[in-house]
Amino acid sequence: MILQRNRISRSVLFLCVSLLLGTGKGLSSRPASSSFATKPTVPLNEGIFDGPLPESVDVLIAGGGLGGLATCIGLRNRGINAHVIEASPKLLRGSTGTGIMISPNGFSALDSIAAFGNENLSEGMRSFGARISDQHIRITNHETGDVDKEVKFGSLFDRYGMDQYNIGWARAHEVLARAVPPEAVHTGCKLDSFESIADETTGKKNGAVKVTLEDGRTIQTSLLIGADGFGSKVRQMLAGDKMCQTRFNNQVSSKWVIFTQFFNLYARII
Ligand SMILES: Cc1cc2nc3c(=O)[nH]c(=O)nc-3n(C[C@H](O)[C@H](O)[C@H](O)COP(=O)(O)OP(=O)(O)OC[C@H]3O[C@@H](n4cnc5c(N)ncnc54)[C@H](O)[C@@H]3O)c2cc1C
Repeated sequence: MILQRNRISRSVLFLCVSLLLGTGKGLSSRPASSSFATKPTVPLNEGIFDGPLPESVDVLIAGGGLGGLATCIGLRNRGINAHVIEASPKLLRGSTGTGIMISPNGFSALDSIAAFGNENLSEGMRSFGARISDQHIRITNHETGDVDKEVKFGSLFDRYGMDQYNIGWARAHEVLARAVPPEAVHTGCKLDSFESIADETTGKKNGAVKVTLEDGRTIQTSLLIGADGFGSKVRQMLAGDKMCQTRFNNQVSSKWVIFTQFFNLYARII
């Protein structure tokens, strides 16, 4: 991130309270949560996600993060031969220490991605996540500590019929990785550039794209999807450097995980 200003005038404090006590009993749309943790407990054979790179695929997705894997699952569930190239030598990289909040619209998107397939991605996310039963956002002044603004969301269930969940990034990544055929993911494949291919006889561009990897290997595709995250090479090549410049918006977000035992203790104290 490029910091254009040195002074941080405001900080944003997110306080997400995921009370696990008594969640969801008797409510099918509110399944009981497991405890929130970012460290994966279910071992996966990471080596399997390095299938041989084909010469040509229908759809090529650059980036095997959350977006890339979700896109691949959705396309494959609809019978499209989609493949992912991932720059990192390993698809699953263990805990990143970060958490992802999945809102009702996120679950709707997961249900749509999983449609026509066998995977229930939403349930997978819920089973590894923690239900957010209450949520406060407090915007404080970085220098004085004064609270500028406080927003209390409460539960989203009453408004949307679905709850919001918090899940470790690595866990969410694992849930998606389990739904992707290992041969569709090619690790250690960093996109370096791409170009439109011209027909040999007419010289006209035929809609196909040739992707060149950093190590010189090439792959041809009818459609290239950039899911290569922050600092995307695909976006840079399509939109230019100017569109890829980042700016600091004077806000800082801090996140913590507070284990529910502390809430029990706190409840006893007060
Ligand atoms: C602290 C923190 C908290 C966050 N909280 C939330 C949240 O609550 N909710 C939310 O929706 N989002 C949240 N985010 C953002 C979240 O991480 C992103 O939304 C999400 O990871 C974006 O997914 P993505 O697939 O677009 O990119 P990424 O997850 O960044 O994946 C990009 C992938 O592309 C690969 N790659 C990069 N360059 C290349 C290349 N040239 N060739 C091939 N592969 C390449 C990378 O190795 C990476 O695996 C948070 C982020 C942080 C840092």
